[in-house]
Formats: sequence, structure tokens, C-alpha cells
Amino acid sequence: MKKVIAMLLAAVLCLAAFTACGSEAASGDKVLVVGTNAEFPPFEYIGDDGEPDGFDIALIKEIGKKLGMEVQIENMEFNSLVAAIGTKIDASIAGMTITEERLNAVDFSDPYYEAVQYVIVPADSTIATAEDLKNKAIGVQMGTTGETIAFKIEGAAVQSYNKALDAVNDLNNGRVDLVIIDRNPAKVFTQKFEGKVIALEGAQFEFESEEYAIALPKGSELVEKVNQALAEIKAEGTFDELLTQYIDSAEVE
Ligand code: GLN
Repeated sequence: MKKVIAMLLAAVLCLAAFTACGSEAASGDKVLVVGTNAEFPPFEYIGDDGEPDGFDIALIKEIGKKLGMEVQIENMEFNSLVAAIGTKIDASIAGMTITEERLNAVDFSDPYYEAVQYVIVPADSTIATAEDLKNKAIGVQMGTTGETIAFKIEGAAVQSYNKALDAVNDLNNGRVDLVIIDRNPAKVFTQKFEGKVIALEGAQFEFESEEYAIALPKGSELVEKVNQALAEIKAEGTFDELLTQYIDSAEVE
């Protein structure tokens, strides 16, 4: 009899311990810590309430709901995101392009947005072709695909900034000749300097299209779950609603 009671007690304790381990957040949901760099409108930026907002933030919160996880956003430097995945953060959503190099360190979800680099120049610039990009002072955001492209341009003096907006500021002040940055933030930033700078289409410079995806630890079981959630969010129409709310509204042409 004593033996039975001891076994039952052990079983109850195990169960209690298991439940305790399974609920990390106060609400009972598990927490998904997601890194971003809130300097990339309309995908991520600091909202009026001082908190990160934008398409990516709204999307990852919807994914969190599907996974039954509470999303906690960590705002950090773009260049630090990949190395932080699996240690400081569980995932990253940051308008991040799938690249071979990043695939060495992380896994990506299915892509959720097609992008391309644009070129921002002074409004009176004559820059129009890939040839015109040679031997110029080029502003980029550190650690981005725009920076990788700039490094490959013949004679380029590449100036890397922590914040993309600082690169556009320096373009406006004449400190760089052009800025290479993703299409959507390029459009948002040029609106801030109306009449002074313009954004030129990447196709003009033979830039290849890119795909944004959520970065996750290599081999993580979350990859499959996130893909499933993403597919449901698309099928239910929420994804398109977010596009309208965040992306289309940012495009005043
Ligand atoms: N899409 C670019 C990249 O992945 C830029 C992303 C960003 O600056 N947030 O490098």
C-alpha cells in the first residue's frame, strides 16, 4: 500500500512539474522572443506609442496567436539579428532576405514577401544605369543585402550606417552620392525628403528580386509550425488585410 501511495505521489509531482515547465508566461502562453530592427518602414518602425509596429510585427503577432505563444519583440541592430537567433532570440522578423550566407547559420520560413533593392539619388541626379553606379560614394544599412550589392560595385566607396534613415540623411546632405536599400523603405524615406531625393527602380540596375522570410534556429521544429501558421493566415485573408493596412497605405506615389 505504501508503495502505491509513493508512486501516486511521484506521478502527481511529475505532472505538476511538467505543467509548470510548459507555461512560461504569466498568461499561461509560451513566450516567443522575436528580434527585429525597427528602422525599416513599413515593415517595422517605432509607432506613436513608442512600441515596435509595422507589417512584420503585426504578422508575427498573428503567427503567435496561431502557435498559442505570446510574442515578445526585441528591438536590436539589424546586423546582430542572425547571430542572436537561438540564443538571445527565438526568431527574427525584419524584412530579412533569404541569402546563402544566412542559410549557413539559420533556417528560414517560407517566404512571405518579394522585394528588390532600389537606388535613392538626389532629385536632379543623372544616375540611371548599372554603369552609373561605379566609382560613387554609396550609403547602405550595415549587414544588409544592399550592402552586399554595393561592395560588388566597381570603385564604390561604401559607407555603412546602423540606421538606413541616416544614410538617406547623408544623401540629402551630399555626403554620399546614392543609397541602396529595399524598395518599400526607399519609398517611405523619399517621402520624408520630398522633392529632394527620388527612388529609382532596381530593375534599372539589374538588381535581382529577393524574398523576405522569418529566420529561425537551424533545425528548429518551429519552422514547420510557423509555415503552417503562415499558410492559414494567408488562406483566411488576414495576410492581405495586413498588406493593405501597412504596405499599400505607405505607398503614396
Ligand atoms: N532585405 C535586406 C536584408 O535582408 C534589408 C533588411 C533590413 O534592413 N531590415 O539584408
